[in-house]
Amino acid sequence: MQDQRRLAGSYWEASRPPPRPDRQLIGNAQFDVAVIGAGFAGLSAAMKLAEAGVSVCVLEAEHVGYGASGRNGGFCCLGGTKLSVHQLIQRYGLDGARNFLAYQVAGINQVAQRLKAWGVDADCHSQGEITLAHRPRDFDAFKAEAAFLKDKFGVKSRILDKSALTAEGYGGSGFYVGLHMPYGFALNPMAYLYGLADQVRKKGGRIFGKSAVTGVARDGDRWRLDTEHGFVRTKRVILAGNGYSKETVPKWIHGRTLPVMSSIHVTRPMTDEELAAQGWTSDTMASDSRILLHYFRLMPDKRFLFGTRGGIFENEPALKAMHKRARHDFNTMFPAWKGVESEYQWYGKVCLSRNLTPFVGQVPGMDGLYAAMGWHGSGVAMASLSGEKVAGLIMGSVRQEDLPEPLQQPFKRFPFPSLRKLYLQGAYWWYGYQDM
Ligand SMILES: Cc1cc2nc3c(=O)[nH]c(=O)nc-3n(C[C@H](O)[C@H](O)[C@H](O)COP(=O)(O)OP(=O)(O)OC[C@H]3O[C@@H](n4cnc5c(N)ncnc54)[C@H](O)[C@@H]3O)c2cc1C
Repeated sequence: MQDQRRLAGSYWEASRPPPRPDRQLIGNAQFDVAVIGAGFAGLSAAMKLAEAGVSVCVLEAEHVGYGASGRNGGFCCLGGTKLSVHQLIQRYGLDGARNFLAYQVAGINQVAQRLKAWGVDADCHSQGEITLAHRPRDFDAFKAEAAFLKDKFGVKSRILDKSALTAEGYGGSGFYVGLHMPYGFALNPMAYLYGLADQVRKKGGRIFGKSAVTGVARDGDRWRLDTEHGFVRTKRVILAGNGYSKETVPKWIHGRTLPVMSSIHVTRPMTDEELAAQGWTSDTMASDSRILLHYFRLMPDKRFLFGTRGGIFENEPALKAMHKRARHDFNTMFPAWKGVESEYQWYGKVCLSRNLTPFVGQVPGMDGLYAAMGWHGSGVAMASLSGEKVAGLIMGSVRQEDLPEPLQQPFKRFPFPSLRKLYLQGAYWWYGYQDM
């Protein structure tokens, strides 16, 4: 049968056989809850609801794995905001920042527990993650940060100087010092996502593929979600479209999110000699300390995954330039691998908000409409846990005030939303300058 999926060209798509496609919504249906978007957030919410016997469907514009959940770097790691830990403390106090860190760690642990419980082999590796300073002058800042994290959060991080980096297999051009954090692991995100979708189906949730929601409107005491060939009437709706949300579905979302592209290259498998030539043999997931960061890891099959920011526009020349720039950065950071081909290259969209924090909760003034999105580029763990939490809000087992404060703030609208791409271009220039 011909593959009807809109493929991203990712290594993950090639690494696992696709599941049988989910049927399209044709005609009308009633559910207690309808979720828009079949990524980690939407599927986690649906799984939790189905488990509790709630009738739930997931409406997905394309197929499971079409969004960022099927396109990411597979770092199951801390994150979810663009605020630094110091900014979090300033905004939410030390206790607020501690709660938020505990939530992030719980998200990581939850993914690990799920994989184990479901018997999903997701090629996991890496114990914790390392940030590599790209400037010698950052050495003192890293040491101070490690001491701060230990003092305020009890985090047992580790500083690696240049000789330790070399000894432990972190060989690259322009890595001066490392800060290893003991949280997180790497995985094949598609293996995890397919496992999650399976759980939704097994527990009685319905997933509809090729069923883009084109309108969300009040219909008596219910919501009506329109798709091309039908509609769903439902008491509650969860918006989980993240960076793939349609700008006016529903109208509330207009101007409140900033979709941002990120791109990934994956090389062919390398030989031990090639790895030794570069001096990179560690399987720890890594990123550099730039604001416009690069993230990378050596995978169990000895391919190297290298990700970085995308561009501004999605047309063909712009995408070509984006991949060329990413490959140029890879060649600069790992010069011994200049000749090692990228066998896969793709991109996807993450979701930023004006507050620089995610939102998990009821949309103000829209009874029964909930949102769970805005993971700022780190959603493997954060979206998974938050999907469960938004289901808990609907079922009454979680109260809004139980969530860490940074998740409670509904998205504000960007001023002059049509200028968002311009803001992004400005931010890239400014951050590029700061990264020098
Ligand atoms: C290249 C890249 C690398 C990344 N690397 C990492 C990483 O290593 N670690 C990490 O933690 N995070 C990473 N992320 C971020 C992470 O992948 C996302 O935060 C996470 O997958 C978001 O999950 P989600 O369920 O919220 O949304 P998504 O997975 O994006 O799913 C949203 C879904 O909603 C659907 N949808 C939207 N609107 C509609 C509509 N109107 N009707 C029907 N369906 C709709 C879309 O088709 C899509 O499938 C990366 C992202 C990208 C793009």
